[in-house]
Amino acid sequence: MIKRGQIGRCFDLNTREGIIRVDSSRVFYAFSPDLEPVIKVPPRSILEIETNDCYSNQLVDTGLFVTQIDWSRINPATGPVYVEGAEPGDTLVVKILKIETADEGLLITVPGTGALPDLVREARAGRCYVVGDKVVFRGKVVEARKMIGVIGVATRERTSTGVPGRHGGNLDTRHVTEGSTLYLPVEVEGALFGLGDLHVAMGDGEVCVTGCEVGGKVLLVLDLIKNAAPKWPVLETEDSIYVLVSHEDLSKAVTEAVEIGVKAISRATGLDWHEAYMLASMAMDVEISQVVDPRKTVRIRLPKYLFPHVTDIMKFT
Ligand code: CA
Ligand code: ZN
Repeated sequence: MIKRGQIGRCFDLNTREGIIRVDSSRVFYAFSPDLEPVIKVPPRSILEIETNDCYSNQLVDTGLFVTQIDWSRINPATGPVYVEGAEPGDTLVVKILKIETADEGLLITVPGTGALPDLVREARAGRCYVVGDKVVFRGKVVEARKMIGVIGVATRERTSTGVPGRHGGNLDTRHVTEGSTLYLPVEVEGALFGLGDLHVAMGDGEVCVTGCEVGGKVLLVLDLIKNAAPKWPVLETEDSIYVLVSHEDLSKAVTEAVEIGVKAISRATGLDWHEAYMLASMAMDVEISQVVDPRKTVRIRLPKYLFPHVTDIMKFT
């Protein structure tokens, strides 16, 4: 049993002692308040959550052609996990400690999808193989960049796991990876957290509509910040704070993200809005996470040195 305040001293990564395991036998395809939790855990729990690939392993197990798979079973999220004490208006803190993946994955093309939907003539699948920190595809080698595609909390209204939003979901943001911390606004009691859709490699944009899609396991800590929540998911890495904004219209996502960033800089630095706008123009980056999901995801990168306390961002977004 893990006691409060003892994270980092009370579990052993080698023996997995003190770690709560959630296997991939129970998954869901839409975030909603009526999901049945697979487990209830106190804040500060350490979990190892197993995931299926985004095709629900249909292509791996049966060798089906891309056109034959059951599209209602795309993007399974394992869970949900109920976090005791989580209430609407709180923040669920997800610290990602480790991602382990299968050593083989699949990319696909499907006519009408991706960043170039009209140019895709064939439904095809291509295997990718993980070799150490590299991924091999058709004899070519690319860098492995493990990440989590779908990660979120339940929404008040049913939201497909294929859609990103304020709750997280299909964020397809490559910085959602080992060492990062994601801050998600809790919308329903217990938060009802789930994740899936691991990628061994995915570039910004996720242009062909998939990354190297794999099953795997994620080791993470779930914690709570009471009575404070960002409007959009906030991601913290070693040197940056990202705010992840999703919208059907990419340019609207950019506008909203920039507005949030300028406001945050103004509040954190004490500069007036026009000065903060100029500072943002030097120090803030507007980046694209993905352009292929029902809502596109934009992220602004704020250098951490501008924000003495990362939780300040909760008030600004
Ligand atoms: Ca995805
Ligand atoms: Zn994926």
